[in-house]
Amino acid sequence: MLNFRLLGTAAGGGIPQWNCCCTLCELCRREPQIVTPRFQLQAAVSGNNRGWFLLNASPDLRFQIEANPELQPALMHGKRNTPIKGIVLTSADLDQAMGLLLLREFQPLIIYATTLVRQVLESNSFFRMLERVPNQLTWVEIIPGEAFALGDSGVTCTPIPLAGDLPFYARERSTGEPGQSSLGLLLEADGQRLAYTPSVPEVTESLRTVYSSCDAMLIDGTFWNDAELSRTHSGTPLARSIGHVPMSGDDGTIALLSDINLPRKIFVHINNTNPVLDPRSEEYKAVLDAGWQIGHDGWQLNQ
Ligand SMILES: [Zn+2]
Repeated sequence: MLNFRLLGTAAGGGIPQWNCCCTLCELCRREPQIVTPRFQLQAAVSGNNRGWFLLNASPDLRFQIEANPELQPALMHGKRNTPIKGIVLTSADLDQAMGLLLLREFQPLIIYATTLVRQVLESNSFFRMLERVPNQLTWVEIIPGEAFALGDSGVTCTPIPLAGDLPFYARERSTGEPGQSSLGLLLEADGQRLAYTPSVPEVTESLRTVYSSCDAMLIDGTFWNDAELSRTHSGTPLARSIGHVPMSGDDGTIALLSDINLPRKIFVHINNTNPVLDPRSEEYKAVLDAGWQIGHDGWQLNQ
């Protein structure tokens, strides 16, 4: 069985965000029963429940592990152990990679990443903390389009190349090679397929083909519309200019994927400015009416 779990569903900063008092962050602080607090995006996958693989490593990872017993150590295996066998990185973004630093404590780990993402992270001296003892880290190079097995978990993972660039802090290392900086993931086990693309810079035909073959698609729900961020915080960029197709409009994800009828169409990576976070909003109702769900922390594929 494909055990896929969302441990966090918010975009960078989570909700509420530490320095934000926009309508939704304030509502989340005052009335969390209406606008639920969310951790930053994080997912975990297993095919057999014995070993888990993290999809990226969020800055909230410590809390996410403590909120999910399956990811915690078990005394029967000794005083230091973990069911987390490895981490698949889809980019070098801090929101996706910072949690690696929380996993140091001399724990052997496997990291699956493209050559470029590995180079970017290894060039930052912080990450030497993950290599203090021999064999602490095992890097496995992943290649866009080439399927690989996640250890002996029973899950097959295929990296889907996306158009995104390296994050701002490492932009000078950009190579322009497609899929080296930003990936989606196609996960398969026991005949089930799930597409995980929390960052969608463009809805391409090849992405549509991948989605059409799946049982579930989890896609970029960062923004409701293109100008939402700049309307809330002046001087900030448009959604599309930072690599996120918004949900709404004729050229939004809901419209562009309306003909792909899967039992589970889930939005993830939801920014704290997105009105769908308020279940009383028109936007939230429009999402449900279009056959989509808003992913929530703790969501599982097979429940
Ligand atoms: Zn906010």
